[in-house]
Amino acid sequence: MALVSIDDARGFVLSSCRRLEPVRTFIVEAVGHVLAEPVRSSEPVPPFTNSSMDGYAVRSGDVEDAPARLRVIGALMAGYDPGALVVGEGEAARIMTGAVLPAGADAVCMVEHTRSEEGFVIIEEAVGPGTNVRNAGGDIAAGEEVFAAGAQLSAAHIGVLASLGMEQVLVYPRPRVGVVSTGDELTSGPGPLEVGKIRDSNRPALLAQVKADGFVAVDLGHAADEPDALAQILQEAAQECDALLTSGGVSVGDRDIVRAVLEKLGGQHARWLQVAVRPGKPFAFSTFPPNATPVFGLPGNPVSALVSYEVFARPSLRLMAGHENLDRPRLAAHAAVDLLRQPDGRLHLVRVQAVASADGALHVRPSGGQSSHQLHALASANALALLPDGEGVAAGGIVEVMVLDAETL
Ligand code: AMP
Ligand code: MG
Repeated sequence: MALVSIDDARGFVLSSCRRLEPVRTFIVEAVGHVLAEPVRSSEPVPPFTNSSMDGYAVRSGDVEDAPARLRVIGALMAGYDPGALVVGEGEAARIMTGAVLPAGADAVCMVEHTRSEEGFVIIEEAVGPGTNVRNAGGDIAAGEEVFAAGAQLSAAHIGVLASLGMEQVLVYPRPRVGVVSTGDELTSGPGPLEVGKIRDSNRPALLAQVKADGFVAVDLGHAADEPDALAQILQEAAQECDALLTSGGVSVGDRDIVRAVLEKLGGQHARWLQVAVRPGKPFAFSTFPPNATPVFGLPGNPVSALVSYEVFARPSLRLMAGHENLDRPRLAAHAAVDLLRQPDGRLHLVRVQAVASADGALHVRPSGGQSSHQLHALASANALALLPDGEGVAAGGIVEVMVLDAETL
């Protein structure tokens, strides 16, 4: 079977996924979600012109030739209406940060540059018009488009929404992702292993990755290599999940049943691919009725399962969650050691540790063994180096890396 390029396989998978139906969500719950409609401001922020300092509200013309002695006509605290108070010629009002700038005043002199005298204040430094004044609408004007549809909401976005008085926003929901592992050899939990059995690591790892990526992980358990049992699990899960991940059973072994089950349930939508990538060559994909739920048949080898998730499932789930940027950041790095390979028609994704040097340049070296069962080396990797088909990159050469964990660079 001919190998399919990673881009073609990815293009096919992405074209089979759709954004989820947007939902109104309370703003704090919406952090990390993507806006499904633009947000316009209904009011200016700040809502009124106010002081950015504790000091005295003055008429700048009165203090041009500072020092100047002004009569203090009142004190304005944050949170209160200044009422009819007007700062006239030769007058000043004590004012606190965030208090409404009174009529007549056009500047605030910091308290540090003043001396108070009984009923008066000596302003020791001239202040120009607008000094230490925050104008109404100076952050956001009324009626302005504050955020475009497609914005991913950060804590600062949520603060802005709150400052506009919004309680809910329309966002794309987090996809609910069901995860099932397949294999007669799998067991879960502690206790002695029978001969031939191994512990299921893919399901916890994939559930954790789904969660870490901001999606909702649904544990569908483990299925034996028995097509009907797996078909039943997937069919039921397709009712309550937005996407399904299976691991194992997609290569050419006698018990590789996932492909058959995907064909049974997905009909003409089922595809079984040999992708020109290492690890992660065998990959199956289908959509299931009634909602065209995407199903990702990830390989069984633990590294292959997670890398295949990275390459195919994660971008698709991000698309469903409304993200415009589907991919991990890619950076150029220096190979700290030889990253050599043999030509085999495939893109190699090498688990590497990337370290930023003092000048900000990235240097990468393999994080351990590169066989697809050696999950330990993926745990200590923070990036995947992309080695296109060929001889690889010698020490000191430049290699493109996909950053998995920017916090450990
Ligand atoms: P398969 O594609 O089902 O033949 O699996 C390939 C390899 O991955 C075999 O060595 C399996 O035992 C192993 N494997 C499959 N599923 C899991 C799993 N959930 N956790 C750990 N290893 C697995
Ligand atoms: Mg298997």
